[in-house]
Amino acid sequence: MRIVLLGAPGAGKGSQAKKIAEKYGLPHISTGDIFRSLRPDTELGRIFAEYSAKGQLVPDEIVLKIVEERLEKDDCKNGFIMDGFPRTIPQAEAFERDIHADVALNFQVDYGILMDRLTGRWTCKKCGAPYHVSTMNGITVCSKCGGELIQREDDKAETVAKRLQVYDSQTKPLIEFYEKVGVLKTLDASKPIDEVFEKIVQILDNL
Ligand code: AMP
Repeated sequence: MRIVLLGAPGAGKGSQAKKIAEKYGLPHISTGDIFRSLRPDTELGRIFAEYSAKGQLVPDEIVLKIVEERLEKDDCKNGFIMDGFPRTIPQAEAFERDIHADVALNFQVDYGILMDRLTGRWTCKKCGAPYHVSTMNGITVCSKCGGELIQREDDKAETVAKRLQVYDSQTKPLIEFYEKVGVLKTLDASKPIDEVFEKIVQILDNL
């Protein structure tokens, strides 16, 4: 099963991708996580830092090369969950030319909720687990692995506003793109995590 997750930053794609990966035994491919795992002293690491600090997208040809390399790995033979890719029409066109998604799950959430989720988000530096400032109660380390909790550079308010603008202009058009392809399923992703997941399971089990 080849699953593409569409939706603005903060829509909950990462959290749901982890749950789908666990239930269906598929690899979770997050282009954002791949970029963040690059060493900052490498050419690619530097390019990523430059674009993401401004809330901008990394150029398509770089993203496409990284995704292509990742999809060649054995664990993708039976499918995968794409989280954060495609993010532009040229990326989607290249992906659909070569690979095809069986389903594109579109996570719909209001702008106000996205702002709150992103600007309040703190992340474990070690395992990537997400936290929200409203429920952290002053803790500074991850309850799962003991790693330090940090606010991602690109989750700071000015950068978040820019990321949401970039989403509107470059990524939102993918909703129409996948509607035309005929595999789009839209979800109300402002609901609690478990409710959203139940809906996803219903959709995937009926494919
Ligand atoms: P994310 O964690 O998915 O929000 O990604 C963090 C940052 O990585 C984005 O703001 C972009 O700079 C970059 N990035 C991740 N995926 C893509 C993509 N498919 N196309 C372009 N840039 C990307």
